[in-house]
Amino acid sequence: MTSVMLSDPVVEELVSIVGRDRVFTDPAARFNRARVPAPFPVHRWAEHVPDAVVLPVSAQEVSEVVKLANRHRIPVVPRAGGTGLTDGAVPLQHGIVVDVKLMNKVFELDLEDRTVTVGPGINMMKLNEELRKHDVIYPDDPASYPCSLVGGRIGTSGWSLIGGRYGHTRDLVISFEMVLPTGDIVRVGDGGGKKVRKSSSGYQLKHLFMGHQGTLGIVTEATLELVPRPEAEFAAFFSYEDYESAWRSTGALARSGLATLAGVVLFDEWKIRYLRRDDEAYIPQPDSVKAVVAVAMYGVADEVRPAAKRIMRIGKESGGSYLGDEISQGDWASRHDRYATPLHGRLPDRQVAPMSWHCEDASINWSQLPKVREKWHALVSDLIERHPIFDDWGMFAYTNGAYKPWGDYLTEIDVGIWEQELDDESWEAWVNCKRDIAAVSLEHGGSISACHGSCRAGEVDLVPEELGGGFEVMKKIKKALDPNNIMNPGKYLLDSAYEDGGETL
Ligand SMILES: Cc1cc2nc3c(=O)[nH]c(=O)nc-3n(C[C@H](O)[C@H](O)[C@H](O)COP(=O)(O)OP(=O)(O)OC[C@H]3O[C@@H](n4cnc5c(N)ncnc54)[C@H](O)[C@@H]3O)c2cc1C
Repeated sequence: MTSVMLSDPVVEELVSIVGRDRVFTDPAARFNRARVPAPFPVHRWAEHVPDAVVLPVSAQEVSEVVKLANRHRIPVVPRAGGTGLTDGAVPLQHGIVVDVKLMNKVFELDLEDRTVTVGPGINMMKLNEELRKHDVIYPDDPASYPCSLVGGRIGTSGWSLIGGRYGHTRDLVISFEMVLPTGDIVRVGDGGGKKVRKSSSGYQLKHLFMGHQGTLGIVTEATLELVPRPEAEFAAFFSYEDYESAWRSTGALARSGLATLAGVVLFDEWKIRYLRRDDEAYIPQPDSVKAVVAVAMYGVADEVRPAAKRIMRIGKESGGSYLGDEISQGDWASRHDRYATPLHGRLPDRQVAPMSWHCEDASINWSQLPKVREKWHALVSDLIERHPIFDDWGMFAYTNGAYKPWGDYLTEIDVGIWEQELDDESWEAWVNCKRDIAAVSLEHGGSISACHGSCRAGEVDLVPEELGGGFEVMKKIKKALDPNNIMNPGKYLLDSAYEDGGETL
């Protein structure tokens, strides 16, 4: 599809809402907004291209676009940084993409009650550049820190690399304004107060409207938590000659009970091999290294210094060799620089291929990590045998709970994909593999996704199994709030809510 499917009068209505210079119907603007970094059946790109893109600058404009979409029964898909890894911002059923990038203002900085109120189009790096001069930060710190935006962080209910210390997006967003699927504008948070962190008034709506992948509305403003800019930062990397010892050490470090602990991450042998081979940001480690455990801490110097001593003791007592300051501090400092790495890969029989990558990101309890790792690698290796356009880029497990990091881990397997070589057969094999990977997570009492969401083909089939009766509640909520199914249709199997007599597009 290269021609616009919306009728001219509808496009003219959009123009009357946001102005001619903020409505795009040309193929470049539309194809561009159909893409996300996750592997994508490029041979079927045209199936998911929006008919028009709008760039609103106010909640009122967003509301008018959504009302128009309701009148004409046109799908609406919110898009922020477009870095999501579950196809959330991909317009599966065409329609209008609402790109929030121009809604990037800082509206209010409140240093007394420690909040900042922003538009959904700002990224964390820019925001923190502003905040730094006031000695505070907004500590949502994903690996996509420079390129994901506040709206997308709420849309996905994101996960932060320093979430053990400061919490994840759901803990850091205090309240937000959003346009509901009917076009009504509401504010949700903990209770009514825009800056209140804990309330028992009514339903806790903030959580309902986080992680819905744009299926329940569009965030137009958010009030965020500020924390003191950390005085001290400490990172230590330990190496191990086998996975088992590294896994035990990870558990011991995560259970240390230190309040300054921001995260503990365990890289397995496949991951180390991949980093050695393909990652320009990687500082090489000795060949004997088969697994690495990294620890990060933040806080005031008087807390971090003694806590660092304890971390060094636990790391060494549990069999780790300290990899030195250059690797520890250097590798930790480069945690946001890996965006470009997945754009190419080195397949065994080829030099460099333009590649994309995908990560399965389950929540898995510590006790289950070794078994899940074995099964996931086996599934991916079977896939590679049949389709050599895939490559196993290794696994990591990262403490997942905010403030209580010991229980479950964001567990990722990264799979490199030579996307341009995808065809129907290899795409189907990939989708089946993703479903099998998700099934292993459920078998081991885990959740299909810890941070990206579970919308993609394959894994999404198991969401009803994971959520049980909760999935039926999700469908009822979706239908009640979005009677015409205009908000991001096709996601999370929610179209099924409309099958028995409700409206479908
Ligand atoms: C290199 C790399 C590293 C990554 N590291 C991490 C990580 O450490 N932690 C992590 O959590 N994720 C990570 N991700 C995934 C991704 O960055 C996150 O999911 C992020 O939260 C998406 O934000 P975005 O602004 O790009 O949103 P988009 O991709 O544009 O959108 C994501 C979802 O939110 C919806 N949405 C967008 N804007 C709004 C809005 N205003 N209102 C309502 N819904 C909206 C979209 O419809 C979509 O469903 C990484 C991705 C990459 C490419």
